[in-house]
Amino acid sequence: MFTNLKNKEVWFITGSQHLYGEETLKEVAKHSQTIAASLGENEKIPVKVIFKPVLTSSDAIYDLCVEANTSKNCIGLIAWMHTFSPAKMWINGLNILNKPLAHLDTQYNRDIPWSDIDMNFMNSNQSAHGDREFGFICTRMKRARKVIVGYWKDEAVIQKLAVWCGAALAWNDLQGAKFARFGDNMREVAVTEGDKVEAQMKFGYSVNGYALGDLIKYVDGVSNAEIRSLVAEYEESYEIQPELAQDGAKRASLKDAAKIELGMRQFLEEGNFKGFTSNFENLYGLSQLPGLACQRLMAAGYGFGGEGDWKTAVLIRAMKVMSYGLIGGTSFMEDYTYHLEDGNMKVLGSHMLEVCPSIANKKPSMEIHPLSIGGKDDPVRLVFNVAAGRGLNATIIDMGSRFRLIVNELDVVNPDYDLPKLPVARALWVPQPDLKVGTQAWILAGGAHHSGFSQAVTKEHLEDFSEIAGIEFVLINHETKIHELKKELRWNDLYYHLAK
Ligand code: MN
Repeated sequence: MFTNLKNKEVWFITGSQHLYGEETLKEVAKHSQTIAASLGENEKIPVKVIFKPVLTSSDAIYDLCVEANTSKNCIGLIAWMHTFSPAKMWINGLNILNKPLAHLDTQYNRDIPWSDIDMNFMNSNQSAHGDREFGFICTRMKRARKVIVGYWKDEAVIQKLAVWCGAALAWNDLQGAKFARFGDNMREVAVTEGDKVEAQMKFGYSVNGYALGDLIKYVDGVSNAEIRSLVAEYEESYEIQPELAQDGAKRASLKDAAKIELGMRQFLEEGNFKGFTSNFENLYGLSQLPGLACQRLMAAGYGFGGEGDWKTAVLIRAMKVMSYGLIGGTSFMEDYTYHLEDGNMKVLGSHMLEVCPSIANKKPSMEIHPLSIGGKDDPVRLVFNVAAGRGLNATIIDMGSRFRLIVNELDVVNPDYDLPKLPVARALWVPQPDLKVGTQAWILAGGAHHSGFSQAVTKEHLEDFSEIAGIEFVLINHETKIHELKKELRWNDLYYHLAK
């Protein structure tokens, strides 16, 4: 479902002016083409990099912005001021530009040629002041953008651009995206609610509800041949618990789970949805809670949220797009249980069933166990651990007057012991800077119990994404101090009030 990402483009635009004459402008274009081609060939950059002719007038800039706005494949612009481009020329274009913008402050020549430097060299290498003129007008116009400084062949510079491309891709993917909610919200839960109209205006996606009966029609239409084929796929992909194996006592439940997955997948494919939510309080017509289906659909790239949590479903989808091609998975997650031993505090994250196998540290085990919640047949699920390493949790909450994205960087750790009786997939982590401060900060910021957990997405991806979306971004990591965070939250309240 990510195949169309390969057609996406960022446009490399270069600012200059007529003053320099034809010869210099030809050189500017040559330099710019070389940089765009070099970035485009770099495998870290997940999209095509398209060189656009050097911009030397207000009209050309405006026309380029119109073209970018209406191009389906253009996900954003990378701007570079090779020479001095008087920035009043940029006002009309930037006024209407509705695509993400990255400002690359680089220079064609890395080094000053100490013994040979003359005014010709200065003419061809003057982004140092050209990019400041462009920076001023962007700041004056409150234009959101990412500013990246450094030599264009430098790996760290390319990495920053690649991260921004990921965030821009996720943003592009949300425009016009559809998310389905099966069975509305878990009753009385606050954090999973929110203003869907505001969300559509802000992020470009729509969320709509469907009755379970709409889904059941698809589940009931699944053929035995389709079930057999999917069960064969399960047997190849997972360690199957004996009860679920051929002739096992619970084999029928495995077939039921396959039938639910096939029905849900067909519903989502036909409706062209990019994610969905479920609700265990509303399972009318389903024989078991769709645990396995949610796990496997997430692994296929769908966003998912439990208990009607549409904001998390959207966030998971966005995180899967922004990290496409990177190492590490992304899953729906819930802070479940603490280990509060002094000096060894950590969180066990899991959910009733729905953890994405993209974060599994080895071949998952397919199992069936009773579930007290939901009042249905025992559900099938995939059980696994998550590899130790760096990770993060992210949550988007609706503050009433704005959306806030909170990110907590984590140190994912191995379990101290085996967990032989825990019948669900699970991850263990230490929130940064430590459990007490990280959790205190998360709770003060209003972070949900649900999150997008990822070992692929970085804080920089999510910071870039929030910049593009124009929403609040709160980072909790090794630098977090509670008294500073409290001030940040108070000041942000004022800022977002005034910024309206
Ligand atoms: Mn939950």
